[in-house]
Amino acid sequence: MEDVYTITPQEAEQMLWHPYTQHKTAPMPVKIVRGEGALLWDENGKEYIDAIASWWVNPYGHSNKYIADAIYKQLTTLEHVLFGGFTHNPAQQLAARLKGILPDNQNKFFFSDNGSTAVEVALKAALQYYYNKGHKRTKIIAFENGFHGDTFAAMAASGISFFTEAFKGSLIEVARIPVPVAGKEQESIDSLNYLAATGEYAAFIFEPLVQGAAGMVMYEPGPLDALLKICKQYGVFTIADEVMTGFGKTGKNFACDYLTQQPDVMCLSKALTGGTIPMAITTFTQQVFDGFYNDDVNKALFHGHTFTANPTGCAAALAGLDLLLSDEMQQNLIRINKNHLTFKERLSTHPQVKTVRVTGIILALEVRRESNESYYGSYRNRLYDFFINNGLIIRPVGNVIYVLPPYIISDVLLDKIYETVIKAIQEIV
Ligand SMILES: *Cc1c(COP(=O)(O)O)cnc(C)c1O
Repeated sequence: MEDVYTITPQEAEQMLWHPYTQHKTAPMPVKIVRGEGALLWDENGKEYIDAIASWWVNPYGHSNKYIADAIYKQLTTLEHVLFGGFTHNPAQQLAARLKGILPDNQNKFFFSDNGSTAVEVALKAALQYYYNKGHKRTKIIAFENGFHGDTFAAMAASGISFFTEAFKGSLIEVARIPVPVAGKEQESIDSLNYLAATGEYAAFIFEPLVQGAAGMVMYEPGPLDALLKICKQYGVFTIADEVMTGFGKTGKNFACDYLTQQPDVMCLSKALTGGTIPMAITTFTQQVFDGFYNDDVNKALFHGHTFTANPTGCAAALAGLDLLLSDEMQQNLIRINKNHLTFKERLSTHPQVKTVRVTGIILALEVRRESNESYYGSYRNRLYDFFINNGLIIRPVGNVIYVLPPYIISDVLLDKIYETVIKAIQEIV
């Protein structure tokens, strides 16, 4: 084939609008040409360790052969068919496989394309459930500083203000309660109790155990169980947004596996397809589904996306589940967690480290700073640049540095990450 560019790659790059990017001040993006395992290479051959699994999506390594083969097989058998009025094996098999590992009250599986749409579907279903019944429950409860995506309802539920500030007037009504981190459990429980008792709320949405975009904020299962119990008592649906935490990140398949209570709704995406094909699933209890099951067509959930349940995505997800549930991958989860805990121990006496926390394969530390560092502030940018220069992909959040590697990463590369993190803390002032 002739060179497809009629213009240079640099000119073409000028046409691209990147996410979360102020193009006037941002440096040129790094051009990646290849990935394998936990490593990526740029156009000049420079090697990078992907210490954040490409925004938390890639557990089994880049360019994974096993998933690629499954995708190829599906692409050359049935690449796509509409899901309205039609169905297929990959979707049926994926539902059956997920049913086997999700909390056992999850009975119905609704497919979409990304984490935001998974949340959008969950919130719409909760609101319409009560609308169908003729009850006036039109509001949502969410945690402070939660992140649930960038579409409108997901954005409304999100509490990181500069993501949503411009749209304040156009969002559904959301009340926010404190996250039950150590010392704030009772305040969180009391706030929820007060709101739930009003009977005005359709659902409570939360990131179970780890709030990703907030900077890997972690809290215990106990208080979350208490919150879910209150919601059950008052008929408030509970929506576990496991878009980040799902598929092994917390050490178990799902963060909800640490709970005694079960959520009514779960949102899955990111690692679902092993970081290959965009896909999401919102899962529901029979009770939620039954609120739509009616002779009246208007009571149906009128939501859908063109690529809903794309067979190729389903095939990737099925291959991903094979990998996740393999002994080798389960051993990797234990191994990374042990390494993280050893590193945590070492950091606990570091004068520049304020706090350090670990859940599963996620490690986060807060650097001690004189004043609060903003989310995309200059300290954060200097850390980011340091990591890139040192061949490490880490995106700090303010003064929080976190590591969330692909599960197949070697001990040698993990050590390299740890050493570079220590160096960054010391050298960037
Ligand atoms: C990333 C994320 C989302 C949004 O997913 P997208 O695929 O980026 O739309 C929603 N919820 C949580 C918890 C996330 O981490």
